[in-house]
Amino acid sequence: MAIIIDGKELAKKTRMNLKIECDELKEKGITPKLAVIMVGDNPASKIYVRNKSKACQEVGIEYEEYLLNDTVTQKELIDLIKKLNADKKVNGILLQSPIPDHLDINEAFRTIDYRKDVDGFHPMNVGKLVLGQDTFVSCTPYGVMRMFEEYNIDLCGKNVVILGRSNIVGKPLAQCCLNKNATITICHSKTQNIEEITKKADILISAIGKSHFVKSDMVKEGAVVIDVGINRGEDKKITGDVDFENVKNKASYITPVPGGVGPMTIAMLINNCIKAAKNQNQE
Ligand code: NAP
Repeated sequence: MAIIIDGKELAKKTRMNLKIECDELKEKGITPKLAVIMVGDNPASKIYVRNKSKACQEVGIEYEEYLLNDTVTQKELIDLIKKLNADKKVNGILLQSPIPDHLDINEAFRTIDYRKDVDGFHPMNVGKLVLGQDTFVSCTPYGVMRMFEEYNIDLCGKNVVILGRSNIVGKPLAQCCLNKNATITICHSKTQNIEEITKKADILISAIGKSHFVKSDMVKEGAVVIDVGINRGEDKKITGDVDFENVKNKASYITPVPGGVGPMTIAMLINNCIKAAKNQNQE
């Protein structure tokens, strides 16, 4: 029976430590501030944004929200980002995805000042991650890496298999694991014989968004299994990508959904906001 990695508890502990750092900054007259831009009315985005706002409040980060109508033009979006770039009181800027199709999200991410890019999506920060330099690591991969650290799961020499190659999870997570000297395989929708690959994983991470895709016969005995997926069923119940009930009997460590990677993602956003405020006040 696997050890359950308690993301909720670890995130709480992380936020408490970050609150101490935030209080220390405030004593020096620095109040970290995050600006969040949301375009349109996506219900899942609303929940994510609400949770981010709650976490900021708890830690003492100033939080400002810009809710844009889904008819907003690219120029209006870019102009808002430029205004926030120029605002010295704003330390972090986050553009909540998805945004409507008529907008170019890559141009928007590129426009965010890379020193305020607390989501780690700017090409400069992605490049620095690839080069192994200090940077803003995107929040979900960073949260997973913190879990490995906390539970003393050493990646050096391990066979890590990642399901999913998105720019926000799969690819940066692969880079983070490579930076820790793991051997990485990334699988995606065109991968053949996926079970043969997953069965060889010492550490299996799923980020594809398919409920209960990872069954116990796809997992090696004693593997560490990290479930990034968040899937909403018709009954509104949230499930992960992993068949938790069966896989937990085979894995050595496993993350639940909910209560696993999700809370750590938000804690790492707070971490990046405080880091941004510190960096900007050292300059
Ligand atoms: P995404 O952009 O849709 O990417 C999904 C990836 O999974 C793609 O690379 C896709 O392959 C691959 N894929 C889809 N079906 C597959 C299959 N049957 N076999 C193998 N690979 C398959 O998704 P995302 O934004 O990375 O998010 C992935 C999941 O993580 C979602 O459930 C999302 O809600 C969740 N998520 C959770 C957090 C958190 O904080 N816990 C944060 C972000 C995302 P192709 O590239 O070939 O299309």
